[in-house]
Amino acid sequence: MNWHEMRPEEVTKSTNTDIESGLTTKEVKKREEKFGLNELTEAERPSAILLFLNQFKDFMVLVLLVATLISGLLGEYIDAIAIIAIVLVNGILGFFQEKRAEKSLEALKELSAPQVTALRNGEWIKILSKELVPGDIVKFTSGDRIGADMRLLETKSLEVEESALTGESLPVQKSINPISGQEVGLGDLTNMVFMGTLVTRGSGLGVVVGTGMNTAMGQIADLLQNAETMETPLQRRLEQLGKILIVVALALTVLVVAIGVLQGHNIYDMFLAGVSLAVAAIPEGLPAIVTVALSLGVQRMIKQKSIVRKLPAVETLGCASVICSDKTGTMTQNKMTVTQIWSSDKVWHVSGTGYHPHGEFFYNDKEVNISQSKTLQQILTFGSLCNSAEIIEKNGEFHLDGDPTEGALLVAAMKAGFKKESLLNNFEIVEEFPFDSTRKMMSVIVKDKNGKQFVVTKGAPDVLLGISNSILWNERQEKLSRENEEKVRKAIESLASQALRTIAIAYKPLSSNERIQNSVAAEKDLVFIGLQGMIDPPRPEVKQAVKECRDAGIKTVMITGDHVITAKAIAKQLNILPTHGRVLEGKDLSLLSVEELEEIVDDVYVFARVSPEHKLKIVKALQNKGHIVAMTGDGVNDAPAIKAADIGISMGITGTDVAKEASSLILVDDNFATIKSAIKEGRNIYENIRKFIRYLLASNVGEILVMLFAMLLALPLPLVPIQILWVNLVTDGLPAMALGLDQPEGDLMKRKPRHPKEGVFARGLGWKVISRGFLIGIVTLAAFMIVYYRNPDDLAYAQTIAFATLVMAQLIHVFDCRSEKSIFDRNPFENMYLIFAVISSILLMLVVIYYPPLQPIFHTIPIMLRDWLLILGMSAIPTFLLAGSLLTRKKS
Ligand code: ATP
Repeated sequence: MNWHEMRPEEVTKSTNTDIESGLTTKEVKKREEKFGLNELTEAERPSAILLFLNQFKDFMVLVLLVATLISGLLGEYIDAIAIIAIVLVNGILGFFQEKRAEKSLEALKELSAPQVTALRNGEWIKILSKELVPGDIVKFTSGDRIGADMRLLETKSLEVEESALTGESLPVQKSINPISGQEVGLGDLTNMVFMGTLVTRGSGLGVVVGTGMNTAMGQIADLLQNAETMETPLQRRLEQLGKILIVVALALTVLVVAIGVLQGHNIYDMFLAGVSLAVAAIPEGLPAIVTVALSLGVQRMIKQKSIVRKLPAVETLGCASVICSDKTGTMTQNKMTVTQIWSSDKVWHVSGTGYHPHGEFFYNDKEVNISQSKTLQQILTFGSLCNSAEIIEKNGEFHLDGDPTEGALLVAAMKAGFKKESLLNNFEIVEEFPFDSTRKMMSVIVKDKNGKQFVVTKGAPDVLLGISNSILWNERQEKLSRENEEKVRKAIESLASQALRTIAIAYKPLSSNERIQNSVAAEKDLVFIGLQGMIDPPRPEVKQAVKECRDAGIKTVMITGDHVITAKAIAKQLNILPTHGRVLEGKDLSLLSVEELEEIVDDVYVFARVSPEHKLKIVKALQNKGHIVAMTGDGVNDAPAIKAADIGISMGITGTDVAKEASSLILVDDNFATIKSAIKEGRNIYENIRKFIRYLLASNVGEILVMLFAMLLALPLPLVPIQILWVNLVTDGLPAMALGLDQPEGDLMKRKPRHPKEGVFARGLGWKVISRGFLIGIVTLAAFMIVYYRNPDDLAYAQTIAFATLVMAQLIHVFDCRSEKSIFDRNPFENMYLIFAVISSILLMLVVIYYPPLQPIFHTIPIMLRDWLLILGMSAIPTFLLAGSLLTRKKS
């Protein structure tokens, strides 16, 4: 079909839809069956079987399997079957871990899936973009990503950036006029919009004509399948570390085997023991556990209302040293109510709260009759006409559809009896120049019943003052004298110092046949009328969140398009601005280079009257000063700064698709306090990863050393291969997972942010791994030797003691891993997962020792009660010896 050649009504007819009511649910179902979901088919993922087989591709596991096979052939069936069983269980666990990680990443993708506004059954509703079908009527506005291919039906200054399709980065102006010609290039189809392109200006309405693979994007979909890498810096570092550890573990294993053989051990026994040791000591499961810990953390973050879009952000969050946050809606509630109106040095007060359109107007504490004040009428009706929002009544409740600032203006007008719908019966909107935060104003061209035309502009008062040359003073138009201007400025400051957000209203008559094409021509030589001041109370939880951030060494900076005095007043209420703190205005910021800004940026706590473009400069200056910057934003123009920040944050409710796509974190509730929670969670996830790295590596060091020392001392093998594998699977695996779910330490948000380049073993972790691992090895060997020398004929008895000591030493040490400082700092029952993991590991160990059918498999002997005294005494040493010495050092 050549949709571009048709007139809009022909298109709606051909697609069998209704521009007034859209499609019905029944019709949507029918079309969904016929055309399928509006999705691009994705590249196939590896099958479950492949994923399972992948678990065994590790070199050492393969060697182990071959070794086992050999031992099977040599008649050691029990050992062979047991080892294969353990390797299988290990593989199954790995498989489920990976599946789980994959699933939660999928779920994340779903959560941040784009939504669109479509007309269905006569109502505008938000649906997932993938639910669109041909014939759907869709509306979109600046910042939206287009959900499907559409023929346009209405446009208001609509501009769309189509570089994803055409390579042309300049936005294309759109209109609804038919275009003739069969073979028109994509770039010239100005009456259509395409899936995946971005609305950069204005708004529009279209009817869906192509979905899924049947779109221009679908035709090049194969080119777009280069998914972003989701690996975090820590994962990358661990991968490198893993390689080093493999070499070290292998070298030590070879050493153990070589010394063992030299000391007269059987080559075959030493080979199997060596391979088992290598499998146990190589932390091959580490990356998978890290991914699971990260994705479980991400799921906890979702519960706390933040969605991580890019996994690396979880780590970077823990390093954040500055949060640059928007004020309106993030620190404040974005529930605006006009409370004061100013004109010609008169101030009216307005009563009522929220979007309920009932309230009175007072002048000098006396209720006023609106019909007696023409200026008041004008301010209110103009505020309503130059407005894209709507107040919708449903079951006696009033809801806002649109921007809260505009909603407040609508409600104020309704309190005086001026409804937008009724006003539109008398005034026609001929042209609209939508609000954008760089111009900081919006204008419409209005025509009344007599054909008289005028421009109505509303926006930031200081900006409107700059483009006005007259003023209505006591209902008479006067030239804007310096004296008047001074009075207006005083009024602005007075409203702003009460933390009110101020919007000015101005207008300009036009001759009846004058055509104005752009906002620059409309927004000049205006007649200033007055101001509306609205409250936007701070969110109650923000003050505490700012304090917690400060305690955590994180500076909070407010960045706002609002007036400097309003911004300062709110910043003071929230304790963001210290006495020595500076406030910088956008106009001063423009004059500074990034280098000049760097000099002062550490002293600035509030940036006011800034444009989104300034944000990039702020991010750069802060980064140059060595900060790790979190930056919030919601609009199209915020995207570059969000992308450049170390942690780009977008708003779940008010954010545009463009901002969301650029960000690595989405705040579901737009709330500043959520950033703090996300940072806390980010720090906790990182610390938990450190905890289990410490646990696993110390355990591995212990396992290797006990074998190495035994060989050096010409002792028999203190552990048989199957015992080593068992310790690796049960004692190491379960508690490590539980550490990944550990609660934060009490002082987590009292520490300075982590340095992003900090190594895995920083802050004494390396020393802890080696010292605790060394002690675990020594005590296991000591317990073995004590029993072995007492009764050299019963090697299995001594091996069982060594096995139990190794297990218990690790299970006690795991509690020490929960704290950076000392085991005594933490209540072990806080983490019930860990308690369960430890209890089940102990029970499984007891089963292996005391359940007769398992004894031949695991080469165990049922040891006596008094042996446990030795085992527990020995296994407590690695943890408590150093914890005790630390404690005395702390006291002294
Ligand atoms: P923040 O950056 O903290 O979200 P903000 O919402 O005040 O602050 P902008 O949306 O850039 O930032 O608004 C800047 C100024 O433009 C406001 O202070 C207000 O005076 C004016 N303004 C805001 N919304 C509108 C609108 N819909 N129409 C006209 N003017 C507006």
